[in-house]
Amino acid sequence: MEKPLYSIRMRSSRSERHISGAERLAQPEGLDALAAEMVRRALQHDKGQADKIVLTLEQIDPSEIVHLSLPDIRTVQATSVDQGRAAALSLLAAAGVNADAALNAMDIMSHGAAPDGDSMRGAMLIDANSGRRLENDRYRGVRVSRMDLDSSAEILLKNVLEPAGLDNTHVRDALVLATKVMHAPGVMAELCWSDDPGYTAGYVAASSLGYVRFPMLKPLGEIRGGRSFFVTPGADLPRLVRYLERQTVLVDRVGRFLPDERWPQ
Ligand code: AMP
Repeated sequence: MEKPLYSIRMRSSRSERHISGAERLAQPEGLDALAAEMVRRALQHDKGQADKIVLTLEQIDPSEIVHLSLPDIRTVQATSVDQGRAAALSLLAAAGVNADAALNAMDIMSHGAAPDGDSMRGAMLIDANSGRRLENDRYRGVRVSRMDLDSSAEILLKNVLEPAGLDNTHVRDALVLATKVMHAPGVMAELCWSDDPGYTAGYVAASSLGYVRFPMLKPLGEIRGGRSFFVTPGADLPRLVRYLERQTVLVDRVGRFLPDERWPQ
């Protein structure tokens, strides 16, 4: 009989302010090491030491797992944050997102997408045509959950990321999340940059583009980050949110790692 699989997730905060989160899937014997790693991560975050850490472990029904492949990964080197954002906007337009909707989402992210001007805990849902925000809760947004890489894909990914100096949890976790999101019913593209003040990279991902990294999508020291999921007009929102929050996704294949590009080209 197959071993049971668990979803393990961590959320940490300080004075009620979100600090970090993490999502993994594991068999029972791997759970204690992952729990320890998540607690360490929550206590050592660049945004400060958490005063509250919530760990949730939940058994997954193996018959409900969707298996996906990582997209192709490429990096666009731009000379400044502004150039990086211009390149990201041009890719979002290529993926079918209305230019004003993309620019507006970027502006909201750079000013803090939560109503108090802070980063949200999850992602905005944005109508890819009108630019209208569709998420119910503008503090929480939608949090993508229940996804991971399997162990063989993990090794293959490490082998391609390590020589490029990209073998870190930021890149790994973002790739897994973006893979799940780009296969979501009704998501056209995603834009992300981190809320970690020491991490300036971000990405645009779409099934039509792959995963495109930008080493500088926000200034160093900036604590406002975010995610925008651009939604196909008329998409079934309850179905989309259910997929993002509840569908178990195991990434078990890797894509290609393409040579760096420059912007402007
Ligand atoms: P991070 O890449 O972890 O620094 O997160 C950057 C931003 O993405 C955060 O400020 C949140 O707005 C959003 N975010 C983080 N984790 C998730 C998640 N699991 N699902 C959706 N959005 C997330």
